[in-house]
Amino acid sequence: MSYTGPDFDPPQQRRPRRGPLTVALAALVPGALLGWMVYEAVGGGGTGGADRTASAAPTAGTSAAPSAPAGTPAASAAPPGASASGSPGDDGKEPGSGPLKGKVVVIDPGHNPGNFRHTAEINRQVDIGTNRKECDTTGTSTNDGYTEAEFTVDVAHRLRTLLEKQGATVKLTRDGDSPAWGPCVDERARIGNTARADAAVSIHADGSAPGDRGFHVILPGSVHAGAADTRAIVGPSHDLGVRIAGNFLRETGEPPSNYVGGGTGLVTRTDLGGLNLSTVPKVFIECGNMRDSKDAALLTSGAWRQKAAQGLSEGIVSFLRQS
Ligand code: ZN
Repeated sequence: MSYTGPDFDPPQQRRPRRGPLTVALAALVPGALLGWMVYEAVGGGGTGGADRTASAAPTAGTSAAPSAPAGTPAASAAPPGASASGSPGDDGKEPGSGPLKGKVVVIDPGHNPGNFRHTAEINRQVDIGTNRKECDTTGTSTNDGYTEAEFTVDVAHRLRTLLEKQGATVKLTRDGDSPAWGPCVDERARIGNTARADAAVSIHADGSAPGDRGFHVILPGSVHAGAADTRAIVGPSHDLGVRIAGNFLRETGEPPSNYVGGGTGLVTRTDLGGLNLSTVPKVFIECGNMRDSKDAALLTSGAWRQKAAQGLSEGIVSFLRQS
């Protein structure tokens, strides 16, 4: 498939793709309805049989490369109160005193604004169990230059605030002031594992063709190779992802993707290091397509990002409160 996803977001334009989907409107409505039915029905976690498995990973070289990002700051400690412009930023309100007391959530804001200046570092290959892959990528941006890396950390701040109000302990894999690049995808997974997160979510926005619209949640497929063993997390991650998708749809009104996932807003992948190496329930979300003008108008809106965070929070809370 032409879709490549979060580990491979190119800095600028993707390669040419097919034209606008003439079937988009026709397919979207029943697809969205199907998505709703899935969200409403699954609750306890289905098998994800309707999910599309995205393209296999490109073959990666096996050249010798260190598997650990030496010197990469983990940035796993609770970040300082400073928040990105426009985000609520009143985190730290009595964490541990709400209904999510004792629960740990790791939020992984995709990419890093500094990645653009550290191409050698982020291009280094790391071991993701099933194969080797770039440490990290620059991520995409809107045509006006609002970067995915800015977007993801802003949503992460908003989400952190909401979850801490519920009493959860929240850790970010990176924050605005550190590290200078990355962390690598293997480290992003490791931060969730080390924190023994009850749930982890990696936040992204896609860089697909204009006309491609909507969000999708990426679920880990079952892999067992090298350091990757997702067999224990496939089920709970699916449950987490379904809950996030349903709540995200309701809060934002953003439709499920019209270009992957068959209208369900759910895609299963086995080529992402951040999922393959996770030992805790984890999903990615592509909140929208930065390269589509309609989606970009949403993604660049602080009010919309707050809705996105609200939907994510409600999905995570729903997942955590049933366990
Ligand atoms: Zn991304």
